[in-house]
Amino acid sequence: MWNQIADRISQVSSTKFQVESRRSVSGGCINQGYAITGNELTYFVKINQASQVDMFEAEAFGLKQMLATRTIRVPEPICWGIADHSSYLVMEWLEFGRATTQAWEEMGRKLAAMHQAGGSSQFGWERNNTIGSTPQINTWTENWGDFFAEHRIGYQLQLAKRRGGSFPDYPQVVEVVKDFLADRMPEPSLVHGDLWSGNAAVLETGEPVILDPATYYGDREVDIAMTELFGGFPAAFYRGYNQVFPLDEGYERRKTLYNLYHILNHFNLFGGGYGSQANRMLGQILASQ
Ligand code: ADP
Repeated sequence: MWNQIADRISQVSSTKFQVESRRSVSGGCINQGYAITGNELTYFVKINQASQVDMFEAEAFGLKQMLATRTIRVPEPICWGIADHSSYLVMEWLEFGRATTQAWEEMGRKLAAMHQAGGSSQFGWERNNTIGSTPQINTWTENWGDFFAEHRIGYQLQLAKRRGGSFPDYPQVVEVVKDFLADRMPEPSLVHGDLWSGNAAVLETGEPVILDPATYYGDREVDIAMTELFGGFPAAFYRGYNQVFPLDEGYERRKTLYNLYHILNHFNLFGGGYGSQANRMLGQILASQ
């Protein structure tokens, strides 16, 4: 497998590459990560079962689209495919460093610039991708409320019910979410889609970087909401973001709904207490209508 991957890297980079050393990189939730080095070059490689090649292709496309906005740094995808019985995604290797207040502020400013970059008149994306290992449905939709109600909350709710969770009925929830977002008509922004603190870092050069996206065109507030979900980002991040693209009124109200998507997904991935957390959030949303 490693020789095939090395040959592919040589092809796409037009520079001979051979794996001289390889080590495992921990920290991933879904895939096995490796650093491979040879000819004084290092690459980061993610490996999974062959059946997951679409997931890697979607990640590579998302990274390329984010790169094309020339706003926030993301790892450059080099190549992806199937070698032996595994799928792989090779990326530029990044050296991480210490996060400073200045770097967090810059991350906020650059994320805001990515959110302002435009690129679509509809919500969705050119293909489905994954959130964690759950499918994420990106059917192009004109109305944000319809998109979020059906393809984000509705889809996860159906999976959660199939998993045995006890939740309010699908049609009722979808209607409530549509009503909740009826006045929300944002411009479609390219969003990272899975922006928890484990997917944000600072390079040794001090440059902020975001990793492992679940990209689509959506309401930019989904990214900001998720930064607040698991631990939160430092105040400097929000300061930087608001300097460039201040949040709209009503964000605080929408935040719970946007994060419900990730909590339902966590219930679908991990079960346990996420079901009752999702029900509490749903209760708040239903009560506020
Ligand atoms: P997964 O898709 O399995 O969740 P991640 O993309 O989150 O994997 O990566 C797992 C870990 O590998 C990260 O926490 C980070 O420490 C490291 N990592 C990710 N991308 C790179 C990269 N381009 N260069 C170096 N290390 C990386």
